[in-house]
Amino acid sequence: MARKRRARKMYGVLHERYPYAHCELDFRTPLELLVATVLSAQTTDVRVNLVTPTLFSTYRTAADYAGADRVELEELVRSTGFYRNKAAALMKLGADLVERFDGEVPGRLQDLVTLPGVGRKTANVVLGNAFGVPGITVDTHVGRLARRFGWTTEEDPVKVEAAIGELVPRTEWTMLSHVLIFHGRRTCHAKKPACGACPVARWCPSSGEGEGDPVKAEQLLAYELAPGREEEYDALVAAAASYPHDPAQPVPYDVAPTEPSAAHR
Ligand code: SF4
Repeated sequence: MARKRRARKMYGVLHERYPYAHCELDFRTPLELLVATVLSAQTTDVRVNLVTPTLFSTYRTAADYAGADRVELEELVRSTGFYRNKAAALMKLGADLVERFDGEVPGRLQDLVTLPGVGRKTANVVLGNAFGVPGITVDTHVGRLARRFGWTTEEDPVKVEAAIGELVPRTEWTMLSHVLIFHGRRTCHAKKPACGACPVARWCPSSGEGEGDPVKAEQLLAYELAPGREEEYDALVAAAASYPHDPAQPVPYDVAPTEPSAAHR
């Protein structure tokens, strides 16, 4: 099957598997998402979501971050790791937003990437989820899956982004990113992918690199796909059905946070 047709088929099947895929960072505004994305470096979204309620109620504007008490901010973000660097980054980010963008988070890629500590990955997360502008987020999962799927051989995230962008319509880029990240976290693990329990195995040239036995593979599934969590999965699918995916809009619903299961690799 030609690469583009195969890619679209795989995306369709994965979208059916994870119709509830969404940005797993909690946020209400572009600034909150920008801050949460900065904090998510080297840690899990679940951990970031534990600190942001207090953080966001304490620091409401870019000016608040710019004028933060460094020690207080460090304490608030400490549990996300690298807290000194992250606090410093948030203060710089706040100052730059105030100085150059009247305290508002800009809604254009070319502006976002000029902010301190904001690369294409973070910019695409913010654009896709807070502004409804399609963007492909090439994180570790998306890069790994795109290569395993045979969608690209590139390692450089910018080239991976371009290659994926050729295969899937622009309107789907944000949802595609979510779906790939969900699949990478739950099924197509870095170390031992659960190929025997993977819905796209028949189109995946890397099928067989992981656990091929369906029963053993099922034990590797993580989060809401883990054995024994079927009710949680069904509830998430039902929630997605009541908020049909509109590629032009940020995902408008908030689903229950998922915790890593013991099977998570
Ligand atoms: S078949 Fe295996 S390698 Fe391919 S996507 Fe599925 S889990 Fe990943």
